Amino acid sequence: MKLTNWQELKTACLQCRKCALWETRTNVVFGVGDEHAEVLFIGEGPGEQEDLKGEPFVGRAGQLLDDMLEMIGLDRSRIYIANMVKCRPPKNRDPLNTEQDACADWLAQQIALIRPKIIVCLGRIAAMRFIRPDFRITREHGQWFERDGVRCMALYHPAALLRDPNKRPETFEDLKQLQRTILALCEHTPIETPAP
Ligand code: URA
Ligand code: SF4
Repeated sequence: MKLTNWQELKTACLQCRKCALWETRTNVVFGVGDEHAEVLFIGEGPGEQEDLKGEPFVGRAGQLLDDMLEMIGLDRSRIYIANMVKCRPPKNRDPLNTEQDACADWLAQQIALIRPKIIVCLGRIAAMRFIRPDFRITREHGQWFERDGVRCMALYHPAALLRDPNKRPETFEDLKQLQRTILALCEHTPIETPAP
């Protein structure tokens, strides 16, 4: 199904029953932010708070994501944030491949409408789908890849940074790298502070 505008796309997505996750969801978590963003962040799937509110990254990991954005002079209104799967997997398990496949077209259509210059994958699962199936997050976080003319990088998932604060210094370096690339490539993404 090819939809050509946000309104149609969102309306259709909110009614989706293409995989079994629809049965246990409270809300479809479509995505938020600037529909013309130059930078798109892709998470894995909604957790409990996201399912309840219908918005991505509003729980503890989301607070950390907000802090990470702030460190590089960004906030949610200047980027777009979406998940690979739009409905919460029960008990926050990893989304199954079948669920990812069923849901992939929604995100593909969001990407077609946004046309971002930079895609930031949050965590291994998103990086495996958007960068390379054998992506190694411990080795390859913070590195740049190109996919269909879009610069892509992966950061550790904020939930992983909550579990293991030792990963935070590396992530800070990755964020500075991201900030430099945004400053170099993007035309209308306002960044408040220059690279520290
Ligand atoms: N983790 C994700 O990957 N996405 C969310 O929206 C929240 C937590
Ligand atoms: Fe549809 Fe995606 Fe929700 Fe599955 S996870 S029901 S494919 S929106």
